[in-house]
Order: sequence, then C-alpha cells, then structure tokens
Amino acid sequence: MTSKTKYSLVLLYDENNKYSIHSLVAAMEAEEVNIDTYLPRINDLHNIIGYLLKNYEKIVVGISLMTTQLPNIQPFLESLKELKRLFSSKFILVGGGPHVSGDPLGSLKHLGFDYLFIGEAEKSFTEFLKRMTDGCDVKGVKGIGYVEDDNVVINYNDEVLNLDKYPPISVKYGLFNPIEVSRGCPYGCKYCQVSYIFGKYMRHRSLDTILLHCKILIKKGINDLRFISPNILSYGGNGIKADFDKLSEFVNGVKELRNLGGKLYLGSFPSEVRPDFIDEDIIKLIKDVITNKRISIGIQSGSDRILKYLGRGHTVDDALNAVDLLRRYNLSVDVDFILGLPNEELSDALETLQLIQKLIYLGGIRIHLHTYIPLPGTPLAKHKVKPLPDTVKSRLLKYLGRGVIFGNWLMQEKLALKIQELRDKGIILN
Ligand code: SF4
Repeated sequence: MTSKTKYSLVLLYDENNKYSIHSLVAAMEAEEVNIDTYLPRINDLHNIIGYLLKNYEKIVVGISLMTTQLPNIQPFLESLKELKRLFSSKFILVGGGPHVSGDPLGSLKHLGFDYLFIGEAEKSFTEFLKRMTDGCDVKGVKGIGYVEDDNVVINYNDEVLNLDKYPPISVKYGLFNPIEVSRGCPYGCKYCQVSYIFGKYMRHRSLDTILLHCKILIKKGINDLRFISPNILSYGGNGIKADFDKLSEFVNGVKELRNLGGKLYLGSFPSEVRPDFIDEDIIKLIKDVITNKRISIGIQSGSDRILKYLGRGHTVDDALNAVDLLRRYNLSVDVDFILGLPNEELSDALETLQLIQKLIYLGGIRIHLHTYIPLPGTPLAKHKVKPLPDTVKSRLLKYLGRGVIFGNWLMQEKLALKIQELRDKGIILN
C-alpha cells in the first residue's frame, strides 16, 4: 500500500543521547527507511519544526530521553505538547531511550508522547516508520506503547536483537561513535538500568562485524578505536565469567587494526570494567595492545554489605586485588564509586570513605565519584535520596581540592533531588 503523505522525521540531537540517535539512524540506513530526517540541537528544534510543518504533511518528532535529562527537558516537552495541540493532525511525538523504557506509563501519561519505543528500538522504530510512511497501521509493532481510548497499551517485545543485523554507526549520515560490542548484563545491579532495559542475557556483535566497522572508522580518519560494553572484558562470554578464548580472539583481531593506524582503547572511556574480571592473564593479553595506560574499574562502594545488597557480585577485596594487579603491571587506575546509595548506613558511607582514602594514599589512582540517582525501572527507583553524611562530604571536598577525585557527583546530588521531585509530583511513575 502506498501513501502519498509526505513525512519528515526530526530526532533531537544532544551530547547525552547522540549514540542512541546514531544507532537509530544507522538502523534506518540498514532497513532502507526512506524519510527526510533532521537532527537538530535543542535550540534549533522549534525553528526546524516550524519549517517542516509548512513543508510536510506530517512530521514525526523523536526524543530519546535519559532520566538525568528530564528535569531540563520537561519544560521543553510541555512546549511540544502545545505544538501538538495546535497541529494535531500533522504532528506525532515519539519517545525512546532509558527513561521511557523504565517508565512507560509516566511517559505516556505526562510527557506528551503519542508513541514510545521500549527497550532496544532499532527494529521497532524502523518498522514503525516503514509502516507509517507506507500508510499502514502502526499499532501492531512490537516494543511500542501508546494510549488508546484513555488506556495505556504496551506491546511488549521479548525478542532480543541480533546486534549484527544493525550497524553501530551510520556511514550515509556520517554519524560515528565508539563501536557497541555487547549488550545486556547478567548482574542486574539494583541501581542500574542496563539489565532492566536490555535484559540479563549478554549478546555480542561478531568480531567480523566489529572489525568491519572499525575499518570504516579508520578510513574516515577516526583512528582512536573505542568500544561500548557493560564490561569489555566479558566479550564473547556470558558476562559472569571471562571467556578467555573469545576475549583473546577479539583482542588479537582488533590488534591487527594497529597496522592500519588504529589506536585501541579498552577498559577506558566510554566503558569501565568489572574488578572481578581482572587477572594476570587478561592484563597480559591487553597490556601491550592498548593505547590507554589507565583502566577504569567500577567498585561503587567500600562496604561489602552494600555491594551484596546491590547485587554487584564482587567484594571490596576483589576490587583491591584488581587495583593491585593493574598497578603491578604499571597500569594506572580510575576507580568509580557511587555515593549516597540506598540502604547505606553511616558505617557503610565511612567504609567507602576509608576505601577511597586507602586508594588515594596508594598514589596514582584517580577516584571517579558519582551520586546515586533513582532511575525508573530499577529495583531501587523508589528509594528516597538521602544527603551524604557531613563527615564524609567534608572529607571528600578536601580531596576535591587536591585534584585526586573527579566526576559530577555534586551536580548529581542536586539532580537526584530534582528527579525525586518529579516522582513526588507523579510525573515519574515507575
Ligand atoms: S555490572 Fe554494570 S552494567 Fe551490569 S548491571 Fe551492574 S552496573 Fe549495570
């Protein structure tokens, strides 16, 4: 069935969500979805929409949203709701990303979206666009949510995507980023959205596909090769234990890219590694291959009680052993901690502070601090945010002055309260 409706698609492009937008556009490229597509920054969005409303019969405006963006973007979503009211026959507002996946009900009821894409959206979004531009009914697409007759309808999708089917970068649109190599995580740490959005089953892009896309990046002059994964050292395995053979294949495969000018970054931005995956064999495997001489590991708490409660699956000693091993092989270490975790008593916060102090005194270790943010869809989403004990905070501020700790933890303290406020107001429901 062919429709004569002239559609355009606008996807808000922001530093925080650009990798998600790249994957969607890359999926559109792979699925040959033909729709005029615009990627404006937030300041240009209203002008672009105004122009498109004059020149197209229908426009689809897509926002990929992280909960951390919501306090800033919510007033803006209100202005889009108003536009939708004025141009209801031509304007379709769709949402995706971790926030709407974690809180579909609140997103449909309060954020003004006509349709949501829940979970991984490469397939659902492209199918939706194809059906829409072909003039077909979109409501049967799996993985979407919408409101019908005042009822929220969610077409849950339990299919997990084969990552090889969708490219991680878009050559046609020139949208490049680190290559996502794995998705899903078996741990389900109670504060983290990864397992609750992408599932606990860890999947991997095949090495051939990874190498193909790395070569494209190198050809485009992007020689720094970085990878996105919940834990790059789990490549090829089930995520709980390293599969050394598969990991070796990966490392030896990407190593060859150095001959083409590629510089390899593993265990550093944008993905950290789990401490329990660090052992001598793995360090020896990657040490002389990687360009980064600093490895980021996530410890999160200095309290074994809290680590257990969160379901992290490692202990403080595992973390100390990992730091010690990395240092013995002359690798520097960044260590991630989350402050203000739910269920934390003063004694737990002090244990975290003591561990931070211990690591700082070892020298050459940087402490990367985060503040706990209640994310929808996680088991801890409804836990109240608690201020950090004064004794802990004042000590950390002293270290901040010495430059041994870094991160957005102070800004996140405020952000966590704003997100809690949105929940208290009933804008976030899950
Ligand atoms: S191990 Fe990392 S990615 Fe996996 S659930 Fe825990 S915090 Fe999230």
